[in-house]
Amino acid sequence: MAITERFCANHPQRPAIGVCVMTHKPMCGECSTRYEGVNYSKEGLRLLQQQRAEAKRAGRGGRRRAVISGIVWCLSPALLYLMYLGFLTVADVLMSMLHREL
Ligand SMILES: [Zn+2]
Repeated sequence: MAITERFCANHPQRPAIGVCVMTHKPMCGECSTRYEGVNYSKEGLRLLQQQRAEAKRAGRGGRRRAVISGIVWCLSPALLYLMYLGFLTVADVLMSMLHREL
């Protein structure tokens, strides 16, 4: 990422060594924090934490999604059994067709 400004956003007297990937502000060595291979300012890290927390909350998806997945989980043996029955029926039909042609 190109450094568009020469000096740190927090320390105007210090030269910037990089740009925060979140805020795109120039930072000096003291303000820059290397995390997961990229540079963040303190503000940027806070934004990242907020984003992660929101993503986690969205991932949980509230109680409704848990209830739906619970129902699906409970019904899955029944669904598997239905699939098995369907497979048997299809196999039966195919076999009778084959025997009829031969
Ligand atoms: Zn600084």
